[in-house]
Amino acid sequence: MKFHSFTELGNLEFPNQMERKYQKIKSLVTENIQSQERGLDMARVRGFFENYTLKVPEIVVTDYQGLSQMKKIFEENNYMVGFDSYLNNIGTYLPEIEIVVVNRHHKLSSNILTLEEVNGSIAVEGFIVHEVAHGTASLCGFCPGPETPHISRTGFWERGNQNEDIGAFWEEGFAEYMRVKFLESSETHIPQGMMISPDDEIRLPLKFSVMNELKEPQVFDSSIAGYALECLCNMEPLLLAKLIASRKSESNRDDCINFIESRWEGLYSSLKSVNPTYNGFKDALQKILILVKNEK
Ligand SMILES: [Zn+2]
Repeated sequence: MKFHSFTELGNLEFPNQMERKYQKIKSLVTENIQSQERGLDMARVRGFFENYTLKVPEIVVTDYQGLSQMKKIFEENNYMVGFDSYLNNIGTYLPEIEIVVVNRHHKLSSNILTLEEVNGSIAVEGFIVHEVAHGTASLCGFCPGPETPHISRTGFWERGNQNEDIGAFWEEGFAEYMRVKFLESSETHIPQGMMISPDDEIRLPLKFSVMNELKEPQVFDSSIAGYALECLCNMEPLLLAKLIASRKSESNRDDCINFIESRWEGLYSSLKSVNPTYNGFKDALQKILILVKNEK
């Protein structure tokens, strides 16, 4: 659920030798780490994206042991140095090797029960959908580095000149909105109603949350962006199709951004530099809720 932290910026060339390097790493991951999908409805996950004619990248559902194996492969091949910081995430999308990784055994705060044990397999499927949504972007910019060129742009997210995250609000919002749309399309009961943030400042629909062991709703920062995107899609019925199309080509992406800019004057640009943190996403949501109020 977090974005990669990259340090270099350059042109969009991806040298052949590097393509081979990433292909090798990808093969090492898929050959050595068996995806643990038993009991998960992967056909429904794939079908969800196929209905939108979006591509689904390779998916590796794993556990803490699989993540350590992956870390070793990455270290040996000089890729994702600092993968440690991802070991605590439920999932991540690795754009260079086009693999979605989800930790099926992700532990909740108590370190006893897993996300799946408390919330069921549908919750794991939902987080796979979130990461796959990032991976549907067919557009990637590559930063060349002396050893490790890497992605400088994927979907709405870009690495800025000052090494800052650009567009994270839009990219995270899209992935989270897709997760919740997937949950809503299932036959599982999705909690209705609203919840209030611990700082008492924002209200979010419960459907964006997962439960902890005490059956208290927990949300991720990205969920705030997801709710904001849902509000915009509810206000403007044409937006969802534009967002979906934006994953498929550069001109569609530009078209989607222009559509948002003209529908709500300057909104895309004003929120693209929002920091991918609780406070950043909260401020962005509050701006969007004002738009919702004014259009009523
Ligand atoms: Zn994400």
